[in-house]
Amino acid sequence: MRISIIGSGYVGLIIGACLAKLGNKVILIDLDEKKIDAINSGVSTLYEEGLDELLSRTHVEASSDYQKIMNSKIVFLCVGTHSDKDNSISLEYLIQATEQVSRVLRDKKDYYVVTIKSTVAPGTTEGRIIPILQRWGRKVGKDFGVCMSPEFLREGKAVYDFMHPDRVVIGEYDSKSGDVLYSLFQNFNAPILRTNLRTAEMVKLASNAFLANKVSFINEIGNICKRLGIDTHEVAKGMGFDNRIGGKYLEAGIGFGGSCLPKDLKMLIAKAKQIGYEPKILEEVSNLNEKQALKPVELLKKYVSIKNATIGILGLAFKPGTDDVRGSRAIEIVEVLLGEGATIKAYDPLAMENFRKLYPYIKYVSKEEVLNCDAILIITEWEEFNGLDYTGKIVIDGRRIIKAEEARIYERVC
Ligand code: NAD
Repeated sequence: MRISIIGSGYVGLIIGACLAKLGNKVILIDLDEKKIDAINSGVSTLYEEGLDELLSRTHVEASSDYQKIMNSKIVFLCVGTHSDKDNSISLEYLIQATEQVSRVLRDKKDYYVVTIKSTVAPGTTEGRIIPILQRWGRKVGKDFGVCMSPEFLREGKAVYDFMHPDRVVIGEYDSKSGDVLYSLFQNFNAPILRTNLRTAEMVKLASNAFLANKVSFINEIGNICKRLGIDTHEVAKGMGFDNRIGGKYLEAGIGFGGSCLPKDLKMLIAKAKQIGYEPKILEEVSNLNEKQALKPVELLKKYVSIKNATIGILGLAFKPGTDDVRGSRAIEIVEVLLGEGATIKAYDPLAMENFRKLYPYIKYVSKEEVLNCDAILIITEWEEFNGLDYTGKIVIDGRRIIKAEEARIYERVC
């Protein structure tokens, strides 16, 4: 099938490469010429397990020319949706991209389906996207179809996740629209849920809110366990054996970051408030997560005077397996440490270049050099941190790196 993907970031590039591997003819559209050149040379602009290999073996064309979407049967919209100041979602990029799609496809003769992959609040596809797509006299349901198919891939495992989804959700304007998307996904070994557009939008937000809830829940339990001298990890293990609970997303620590969970949770809170509902649980999940980020700094102050100290940071990516630092807990921690007069030396196996774009003036060093600092904070649970010698050091562990327990002073956040 001929497929266009608008936005070649984490989601667009990965689904583009995967759909090309499955035999589809894919064109990626982006505004960032550097990204386009890299993709056309078969180079990945981001780190994802298996992505380089995929790009070297499959042909995916990238371009900034929207005219190239003209022959597509499906146009996926995968541009970023970021939080606005009031925590509602900014649709700026999505609207711009939709306007371009609408303009280019106004003369397209054959039927096509525009599919939203970007995460949006319930009602957005119907209320904001379809009117733009109809602007040039084209009629949804007749000239073209519309779907909303949320993406659930996890960064770090995104290629695997796209190829082996737990489920595919197809929100459809009508069954004709959904049939086209169904034909693309029918051979995936996963349940396919066909629903209306706003339900699909809500499935994504509710799923991420639930995962966020699990993390904040175990952190709350962890904060209580720490005061009681109980190992939260053991408690989580005991809970996780219960199939009704499940062991995933029960790692206590400094909470969730990244470009999705915090934003999607805030998007749902903002939407609920906008329609007059006070989502108290969701608000507490978010508040607790914000407080949890700075726990390592609180603990650090028990052992080191931060002003003029050199603090080592192990881990800058928002989670292991990625070079993505968007929403990383390291950002909040570095901000506070710099504000209190510390010098920072940091190491991450993949994310130093991306972090350097945000903080060019902190020192990026080897992991061994981080160990020579006055104290060390572990922010990301990279497996390689289990291979370091922490003897004699002061370590505050925001995750759970077992080897670090050998430090002279060792404290885990919870
Ligand atoms: P991203 O910022 O990595 O990529 C977005 C891309 O869109 C960028 O390359 C940008 O240059 C491009 N772009 C912006 N405006 C454009 C336009 N008018 N025309 C063409 N290209 C344009 O974002 P992402 O992480 O891939 O996320 C995309 C969407 O998918 C978001 O709504 C996000 O919430 C959702 N999502 C992300 C993930 C994830 O793990 N990153 C998972 C599921 C869903």
